[in-house]
Amino acid sequence: MVQHGPRELIETEFDLTPPRPGELILRVDACGLCGTDVDALAGRDIAVQREREGGLPAFPRIAGHEIVGTIVARGEGGRSDVAVGDRVAVDPWLPCGRCRQCLAGRSMHCEGWPFRPACYGFIPLSVEPGLWGGYASHCRLHPQTVLYPLPAELPAATATLWNALGAGIQWGVMTPQTSIGETVVILGCGQRGIASAVAARAAGARLVVVTGLARDAAKLALARELGVDAAIDIEAEDAVERVAALTGGDGADVVVDTSAGSTAPINDSVALVREGGRIVWAGLKSKSVDGFPIDDAIHKSARIDPVLGVSAEAYRLAVDLLGTGQTGLERMQTHRIDFREAERAVDVLAGKVPGEGAISVALTNVGD
Ligand SMILES: [Zn+2]
Ligand SMILES: [Zn+2]
Repeated sequence: MVQHGPRELIETEFDLTPPRPGELILRVDACGLCGTDVDALAGRDIAVQREREGGLPAFPRIAGHEIVGTIVARGEGGRSDVAVGDRVAVDPWLPCGRCRQCLAGRSMHCEGWPFRPACYGFIPLSVEPGLWGGYASHCRLHPQTVLYPLPAELPAATATLWNALGAGIQWGVMTPQTSIGETVVILGCGQRGIASAVAARAAGARLVVVTGLARDAAKLALARELGVDAAIDIEAEDAVERVAALTGGDGADVVVDTSAGSTAPINDSVALVREGGRIVWAGLKSKSVDGFPIDDAIHKSARIDPVLGVSAEAYRLAVDLLGTGQTGLERMQTHRIDFREAERAVDVLAGKVPGEGAISVALTNVGD
């Protein structure tokens, strides 16, 4: 499904020529979707922003950056860590491996390619070999691609949850260094919010709280079923008061904002955190924040970490944890939709299709 512009996806056939040296051909078994897909479909993503700043034209491209597939062919030479027939999760970030960002372990900021971001699903067709996205039957994987082998018994659509869980491990545990006995508040109860809560609980947090809106009732209910101690509808209840009550007036050790679009959680994160606590901002807003309580943040000496994406270490841990079947996160996956209906699938995830009530949506390739 080639994207030519905002909301313009066209089914297109390509010849699948044999892999070049070191390259892998992947049959896409499933592709996860997230808020970034919603922005990408609308044409308001980072690649479009880079184009405005003088980068390569963002379109046409094949979107889809949460790819799970099976290796069906490999070029001569190259890597020895995977074989034809293996099912793998594809790290969306493509590291050049040589720039200062890659060498510092920040491949999401890689500056070693002529295109940015160096991320599957955002590299245009004009960059050879063109098939860089998961809204497709096949992808061509660059020799430098980071891959995570998946257990064969894990269904492909379920395996796409590795991406949300990786974010949960990064944002809910690794970045804020959540440890045993701590109190954690997660703002937002989308798939990454719920995954952050599950990860914090797995890391030993003694109190895990998730917030959402009235329309998120099903997500909040699932969060409770997955072991969250309090799931707060902030339209019905004051989250700051409730968290104060739950923490003996201290506030939370860790506050993680995973919500998209709304800026109120940024200000709330300061009100919710305890003195000397840690705040993680992971939800993109597409606008700036009014009324930020800077003095409160200083008085609390809160450490604030804005995070982009997920480290390879968190992704690897997510694949391993998902493989154990112990997370319960597969219950988040409310929809599996053929990739040829990617536009509708993104709308379902975005809550734009009445009555669908999506939490996590995976594209599949049932048409083949
Ligand atoms: Zn994503
Ligand atoms: Zn690099």
